[in-house]
Amino acid sequence: MSKAVVSTLYDSDVFRMACRQFDQAADAINLPEEIRDRTKYPRRCIAVSLPVRRDNGSVTVFEGYRVQHNISTGPSKGGIRFHEGVTLGEVAALAMWMSWKCSLVGLPYGGAKGGVIVNPRELSPTELEHLSRRYMQELIGFVGPQLDIAAPDVGTNEQIMAWMMDTYSNHVGYISPGVVTGKPISVGGSQGRREATGAGVAYLVGKYLEDLRIPVSQATVAIQGFGNVGSETALALSAMGARIIAISDYTGGIHNPAGIDVKKALAYIQYAGVLKDFDGGGAVTNEELLLLECTVLVPAALERVITKDNAPRLRCRVIAEGANGPTTNEADRIIEARGDIELIPDILCNSGGVIVSYFEWLQNLQSFYWSRDEVLAKLNGILDRAKESVEYQKRKFKFGRRLAALTLGIGRVAETKQKRGLFP
Ligand code: NAD
Repeated sequence: MSKAVVSTLYDSDVFRMACRQFDQAADAINLPEEIRDRTKYPRRCIAVSLPVRRDNGSVTVFEGYRVQHNISTGPSKGGIRFHEGVTLGEVAALAMWMSWKCSLVGLPYGGAKGGVIVNPRELSPTELEHLSRRYMQELIGFVGPQLDIAAPDVGTNEQIMAWMMDTYSNHVGYISPGVVTGKPISVGGSQGRREATGAGVAYLVGKYLEDLRIPVSQATVAIQGFGNVGSETALALSAMGARIIAISDYTGGIHNPAGIDVKKALAYIQYAGVLKDFDGGGAVTNEELLLLECTVLVPAALERVITKDNAPRLRCRVIAEGANGPTTNEADRIIEARGDIELIPDILCNSGGVIVSYFEWLQNLQSFYWSRDEVLAKLNGILDRAKESVEYQKRKFKFGRRLAALTLGIGRVAETKQKRGLFP
């Protein structure tokens, strides 16, 4: 059989990392050679130029991407990142992980991801609106409630989702809320979506601590990244009785062994914009935060922060991957060899976000809205089943937990492709 010619389009550390994870999982389940490449590589990518009128009258052209990794198992689904470090390879890796995640938790979606190379903090609200609307405008034809559904990710939020939904709706001529999830409640968002990812991380942390017989009230937690995922995880875990001893954002972190007042930290960020100089504890760098002694370490910022250099020095009992791809392949091997850390892999750990996005999409399609309690109860039910299936796979095949989760997610996508044929 001839091997596929693999282009260098996506080549990057993070894409190679996602590919290595795929290869290991495919080997572990003896995935037939003929199905591998078409399960592994993205279905298509769209690169767009985004001219934006600045407040001073000048025009800046930004570059954006959308990668649709898999559309065999349903419309593709995935967030949009606004960050200066975005690359096509990163977006492709994130799209790939979305495919495995949706498949693992049983959602009728493929995976996608989008990104724009921009530091959103350098744009005024008007410029940000122009950029968001232009990005959606350029993607019309490739997105839609039955085609590809966006959501927030790093650097994007509910307001940006509302602008994108509005741009799409104006184009089609009627309100089409199902094209984007993570919207404000007033424009078709779901109860519980804002907190869903963090609530899901906290729920799973609670379950794994229970398995370890560690009372949540005795757990200490260090969280890297205090945006949507990090702050909601902190709020939920502190409400469950855990002590949050460290938090951080891109400006650095705060460490307080006695416990940080999470609500006060959030109020400070609302006022100051960043965590820097918050007086709730001593200063700590993002690198130092990862090495703090704690029960639970939650990376909730960017990829590839737990590496071969710091993995041997981690001092936590549980790693809960709120972020996508925070642990490199080398670090994975070190953590597994150490044997003293339970790792809750990203595609399980942070799946609460896409699960409630799915609920939002369902509510939009039906124009029938659910209560917050209903949303959270359904979320927890899906997380319980996903955790159970991962633990069963882990025990049955003596896999590490990441490999167990990946083999389930990848196996189901590959099976659908095999059953449907070559086109999807
Ligand atoms: P966000 O933009 O709301 O927050 C990101 C946080 O990370 C901010 O506090 C930011 O200051 C911090 N940060 C940025 N660069 C950093 C750096 N170099 N070092 C340390 N901190 C840094 O984004 P988010 O939505 O919370 O996403 C965080 C992670 O969670 C990403 O990996 C994302 O893909 C993943 N995720 C998000 C969702 C969701 O629903 N938003 C769902 C699943 C997974």
